[in-house]
Amino acid sequence: MAEVKKDIRSLDKEALRAFFEQNGDRAFRGDQVYQWLWQKGVHSFTAMTNLSLPTRQLLETHFTINHIAIDRQQRSTDGTIKNAVRLHDGLVVESVMIPTLERTTACVSSQVGCSLDCTFCATALLKRMRNLNPDEIFDQVKAIDKQSRLYYQRPLSNIVFMGMGEPLMNYNNVIKAIEKITTPEGLGMSAKRITVSTSGVPKMIRKLADENCNVKLALSLHSARQEVREQIMPFAKNFPLSEIEEALHYWYQQKGKNTTLEYIVWKGINDTQKDIDALIAFCKRVPSKVNLIQYNTIGDPNFKQADRTVIAAYQSQLEAARITVTIRHSRGQDIDAACGQLANRSTQQNNV
Ligand code: SAH
Repeated sequence: MAEVKKDIRSLDKEALRAFFEQNGDRAFRGDQVYQWLWQKGVHSFTAMTNLSLPTRQLLETHFTINHIAIDRQQRSTDGTIKNAVRLHDGLVVESVMIPTLERTTACVSSQVGCSLDCTFCATALLKRMRNLNPDEIFDQVKAIDKQSRLYYQRPLSNIVFMGMGEPLMNYNNVIKAIEKITTPEGLGMSAKRITVSTSGVPKMIRKLADENCNVKLALSLHSARQEVREQIMPFAKNFPLSEIEEALHYWYQQKGKNTTLEYIVWKGINDTQKDIDALIAFCKRVPSKVNLIQYNTIGDPNFKQADRTVIAAYQSQLEAARITVTIRHSRGQDIDAACGQLANRSTQQNNV
């Protein structure tokens, strides 16, 4: 059987430098290759035009460059684009480009399927197949940057890890991808423009707080009452709110930054005064702001967006308690690209 070539993007810069030294070349060649891979984002050795032909052939004999392909692009009437992203092994994830007047945001996936089991999210219905590699996360970002330049004549400005998967359950690869996205020899984007959104894994929030990396943190809270949260996010039994709260304190202590609490209000689930009071009490204890998210239906009759009056009550009472609150309106609903709707419906891949 032919030897399986290694994906060159699994090597970090030091390993690339070492490879060239071991092959009688200069370590600096590794820096050049790193830039081709992570700044220019090329997908072939032929494209590395400042390398000599023998050098390119050497790389060719040892390595491949695994990369994504955009199988399908769907464009919403509001300008949002959903990409069906085919991975080198045929699995498919989705990523979304969300343009506003001044910005372009990339919503990227971190896993094929998801490790968690939120009952209101379409991705949770898929089987979790595997974690994405750093290069697969990077490629989604790079592809959306290109789309932004093509359609809006401007580079990508923000990234949110709010696509498929739980980023903190694929921690190492997410951190490695962020490194490539932020280093000046990669895309050179500021980490401040990246938001990692988690359902709440306390140990990993602490780990992220210890990281030398300035990303923003968002927590999908949805209820500040443990018993309610367990109903809609069953995994929450293992990660009690008390522990999440401590982790968010640690985050604030280490980073000096508050956490955005993502919150959907559903009819009959978290639409009582008791729910509002619990959220306000939580916000008073934890340095945070609230983002009320519009619910995007996934066809389950148990989940219906709460009445406007209830959402207005949440907003006014949070404001009265001097807690910053914003409302996130959905984008790309007509193409199933909105939060919680990513389920490979256009391709029906990986559905088990
Ligand atoms: N696993 C991570 C990131 C992916 S989900 C997390 O949970 O944060 C991104 C956001 O979309 C989360 O806040 C999630 O709770 C929310 N979401 C999930 N399903 C949704 C739906 N049907 N409508 C609106 N938001 C949804």
